[in-house]
Amino acid sequence: MTENFDLVIVGTGPNGAAIAQQVHAQVPEASVLVIEAGREVTDVAGAHLVEADESALTASYDDLMRRARQIEYVKGAASMTALDDDGWTPDDTGIFPAAFLGHNFAEFPGASIAWNIGGMGVHWTAATPWPYAEEIPDFLPREEWDADQETARRLLRTSVGPLVLDMENAFTEPLLAALRDAVPSPDPTRQADYMPMGGVARQGKPFGRTGPRDIAPFVFDGSARNVWLRSGLLVTRLEHDGRRVTGLATRDLVSGEESRWEGRVVLIAADALRTPQLLWASGIRPAALGVRLNEHATVDGEVEIDETRFGLTKADIPVPPRGEPFIGSFWSPSIGAARPAHGQLMQREFEGRHKLSVGWYCATEIRPQNRVVFSDDAVDELGMPHMTVHFSYSDDDLAEIERTREVQRAAARAIGDFPDDERTIQPPGASLHYTGTVRMGVNDDGMSVVDTDGRVWGFENLFLAGNGVIPTALTCNATLAGVTLSVRIARAVAAQL
Ligand SMILES: Cc1cc2nc3c(=O)[nH]c(=O)nc-3n(C[C@H](O)[C@H](O)[C@H](O)COP(=O)(O)OP(=O)(O)OC[C@H]3O[C@@H](n4cnc5c(N)ncnc54)[C@H](O)[C@@H]3O)c2cc1C
Repeated sequence: MTENFDLVIVGTGPNGAAIAQQVHAQVPEASVLVIEAGREVTDVAGAHLVEADESALTASYDDLMRRARQIEYVKGAASMTALDDDGWTPDDTGIFPAAFLGHNFAEFPGASIAWNIGGMGVHWTAATPWPYAEEIPDFLPREEWDADQETARRLLRTSVGPLVLDMENAFTEPLLAALRDAVPSPDPTRQADYMPMGGVARQGKPFGRTGPRDIAPFVFDGSARNVWLRSGLLVTRLEHDGRRVTGLATRDLVSGEESRWEGRVVLIAADALRTPQLLWASGIRPAALGVRLNEHATVDGEVEIDETRFGLTKADIPVPPRGEPFIGSFWSPSIGAARPAHGQLMQREFEGRHKLSVGWYCATEIRPQNRVVFSDDAVDELGMPHMTVHFSYSDDDLAEIERTREVQRAAARAIGDFPDDERTIQPPGASLHYTGTVRMGVNDDGMSVVDTDGRVWGFENLFLAGNGVIPTALTCNATLAGVTLSVRIARAVAAQL
């Protein structure tokens, strides 16, 4: 069976959804097929888990998130599914360690991948801080970046303020004042403040985190007559003649049925690991494919809030509505090269203890030895190329991590007692913000995979999107930066259509 579409998008995470929304808005008559390997994780496809009926999940988003360490979430989320000693079956859906299909992630052990409709976008915390200074690609016109970032903020529904309307939090101002003193900034717009969050604050309900369904509802509810979603289909290969993609081969993961689809334009948004894997599987192998994998280092920790320092008591701790893991969400922004580190500070109560998690992300060098190597002959359980990740920190990275620990220590000690052994460097991959594997560049010089429109060098109709396209070393969470580039890439796709 072959079917023809104007555009075929692979992946239903925030980036696939953003591309679909933007292209549909600009070329409403274009026929669009969206292909997704995963299945529904709840009964509302593409909606964030915070909206799910708790009883439908073996472990709730609230409970997992309250632990407030992403790595705990990922471990817990794997247990939501049937991933057990028998390994993975195509019916399993959710978030899994990236090594689960037999890949070698020994040097990047924290990495995970989503295997469900909506990708990681139905699981995410939804912090959407914006990139700053060196984090913004210097080769893109700045006014275009700024306008696209505004569109991305709108798509992700970024808001800045309390997580729950009408929930008084007497700790907000004292915590922010203490953080501003402890981690000063020369730029008044880069002071500790509320964390920009992708979603909607509501009264008496958890913060309504933006899922891909909020970005492009018509992809998931079938309300557009010329947009179709096919889930449970793994794209196994792009057929091409070296200049144009002529077809996509898929396999139904449950029935094994093989199909073929055609798109005048093809866009792959299958995450920073599986997008380059699919290109490799298809014999599209630019020199930069998988090379210069980058990830900020994660310096984790949590401090028990000393209420007495702020003239408050335990009676002042607000109780968020059922389903909302956090009381407050705050941000200590990076200030560029002088402090390329960004703090994500989540206030919460867990097992009777009132805590602020003090997680800092610090930028690391972009280096060619950090890379995903795809095998020519070894395959994973699905028959896709086997991946080995090489990743290490340079001496400069290690020095920056130490400086970041000092920043974290100063912040935490302004809040409560913070012994040195409270801090951990999370294993590489644990931030889930991997970038650079299909990076954007200005010239086809072997350093990039796509041009500034997201088009694969040498191809007329093959575009890529997602965190892998981001060419810079980020301090901040990656999704807003990735979706900002997706807005740009969608414009080029729409123009081509
Ligand atoms: C617990 C958690 C918390 C997070 N918190 C934050 C946060 O606070 N802020 C932030 O910025 N980011 C956060 N992230 C990361 C964020 O979710 C990702 O940056 C974002 O989802 C990336 O979007 P994407 O569309 O590029 O990829 P994904 O969301 O990963 O979606 C990719 C999709 O492609 C599909 N796919 C892959 N290969 C194929 C194939 N061959 N055929 C068909 N389909 C395929 C996958 O099944 C998947 O659904 C978090 C993630 C998690 C798990």
